[in-house]
Amino acid sequence: TSFELVEFCSDLVEELQTSTHQHQINFSVYYADFPQDEVKVIPVFLDDKLLRQILTNLLINAIKYSPEAQSINFEIIRQEQEVIFNIQDYGIGIPLADQSRIFQSFHRANNIGTIAGTGLGLAIVKNCVEVQGGEVTFDSRLGEGTIFQVKLPRILPRILEESS
Ligand code: ATP
Ligand code: MG
Repeated sequence: TSFELVEFCSDLVEELQTSTHQHQINFSVYYADFPQDEVKVIPVFLDDKLLRQILTNLLINAIKYSPEAQSINFEIIRQEQEVIFNIQDYGIGIPLADQSRIFQSFHRANNIGTIAGTGLGLAIVKNCVEVQGGEVTFDSRLGEGTIFQVKLPRILPRILEESS
């Protein structure tokens, strides 16, 4: 479906923010394609339900794997053909030994202590991103934090469009 991404994301942030008062979610938007553009919007044609899955999973991970009172940064960057989502936390990080397996179903790292979860969120994220022709990557440092980056085309490739 066709929708406007800035409003979609700020609504989502507001929703999550009401359920997590301990973590401030800093939301920002950059317009890399036309910096002078007066119209601060990001029209996209994507699957809104899949996008919601992607962003809530990543934002909730950022929240639950970082200590209370640490803020989360959530930024979106509009490019001509693509949109980039960066979700950054200053949390526990992902041990090097686990980094190659975190997108696998049920894999959970060994530094999570008693933080609850099933290990399915990132597998779902990866699927929801790839089915829309995008990619998801991350960079993480143990004890310092993690940043997940999702890159999606602003318009679903035609084949995917037809099957959705
Ligand atoms: P759920 O299925 O409820 O999401 P989960 O959070 O354990 O459970 P995933 O979201 O798939 O599962 O994440 C897999 C593992 O990757 C986590 O158990 C954790 O070890 C690690 N991980 C994911 N996101 C982060 C993060 N932001 N910071 C640190 N570790 C993370
Ligand atoms: Mg999760």
